[in-house]
Amino acid sequence: MASSTGSHHDETTTRDDTEESDAASESALQTARRQLRRAADHLDIDPNVVERLNHPKRVHEVTVPIERDDGSVEVFTGYRAQHDSVRGPYKGGLRYHPEVTRDECVGLGMWMTWKCAVMDLPFGGAKGGVAVDPKDLSEAETERLTRRFAEEIRDVIGPTVDIPAPDMGTDPQTMAWLMDAYSMQEGETVPGVVTGKPPVIGGSEGRDAAPGRSVAIVAREVVAYYGRALAETTVAVQGYGSVGANAARLLDEWGATVVAVSDVNGGVYDPDGLDTHAIPTHDEEPEGVLGHDAPGTVSNADLLELDVDVLIPAAVGNVLTEANADRVAADIVVEGANGPTTTAADRVLAERDVAVIPDILANAGGVTVSYFEWLQDINRRAWSLERVHEELEQEMLTAWDVVREEVEARDVTWREATYIVALSRVAEAHEARGLWP
Ligand code: GLU
Repeated sequence: MASSTGSHHDETTTRDDTEESDAASESALQTARRQLRRAADHLDIDPNVVERLNHPKRVHEVTVPIERDDGSVEVFTGYRAQHDSVRGPYKGGLRYHPEVTRDECVGLGMWMTWKCAVMDLPFGGAKGGVAVDPKDLSEAETERLTRRFAEEIRDVIGPTVDIPAPDMGTDPQTMAWLMDAYSMQEGETVPGVVTGKPPVIGGSEGRDAAPGRSVAIVAREVVAYYGRALAETTVAVQGYGSVGANAARLLDEWGATVVAVSDVNGGVYDPDGLDTHAIPTHDEEPEGVLGHDAPGTVSNADLLELDVDVLIPAAVGNVLTEANADRVAADIVVEGANGPTTTAADRVLAERDVAVIPDILANAGGVTVSYFEWLQDINRRAWSLERVHEELEQEMLTAWDVVREEVEARDVTWREATYIVALSRVAEAHEARGLWP
């Protein structure tokens, strides 16, 4: 296993991350670093702590060879980037996607540190994955890939060390294989090594739908904050996976009019409101959105510019860029995906007074219910779905209130306020613990 300490092998540190490149090509790490710098400018924290947080604690790169169904062997590359653990064990998802890179994992791991801090969870941040297109693998190949990847990162994960979870391209079944592979080697069942497992092996009720639920809760709160009624609010959602579909369905249930939803092939549109329950989610029927009978269709690019009150990008990163940010017609954006807005787009949206509720708050329901799952695993006691919903609602409202107070006190954007809350908590923990030795 190759293991490096960030700065030496990290080419991006030599580039000037303060400069805004336009573009969809901005890496998650560049975006994350620019956001860190911006938040640090608002706070009186030790620059050495900020410099430390600009880098991951360590990044593990592993080789994952698997036997394909035809008997040939293929070699994939996997990563686990561990950003910071000052507040608790590393926590964050594993992604199976062709564009997974070291830098992407570092940037996404950094976001997990802030996400856990803004929710006040006793976790740090990490992210990992394998550079592979899961659509190219059979189920048996995916299982072999997961078990081998689990073995390659076994030394650096664990229920009190680093706890993976699902992300793009992975799901509860992936977590079940990972937990089984880890447990077989440990010689005992270790449910707490991953979250997002099926409930039958220690997963939490409501974990799957939790990121979408938190997006819906935050959308409901921001709409109320600006003095509007959900019943008079129109919504467009890009992405109909676990985040987008659950957010769309809840907002629909709560009275909002969801006029457009999409998957990778494009979207359906109905100005009078779609029946979100009738449209198949990615889980129910992959790429099934366009099969739904609706009055109109809309491309993914046009969906982002629809004249709606609330836009929820809940698919991939970097969809709001300098090229389209001035054409976003919604005045509220709630980020369901991780990193859907580039730095340049963020500036344009702020100048135009569009309220952008950042990913690290909006979709934090996922990791929050992961925390509930971890507690249930430690206590060997399952919670009811009602309890999960109640406690998630409480945690989201608490975080929302703290961020709202920062927005009001400092006259900053929602993203800046969220980062200020998160970074102050992480920085205070670093200052309290001090630098070892
Ligand atoms: N992958 C999810 C995220 O980006 C969840 C991480 C977790 O539950 O640890 O927040």
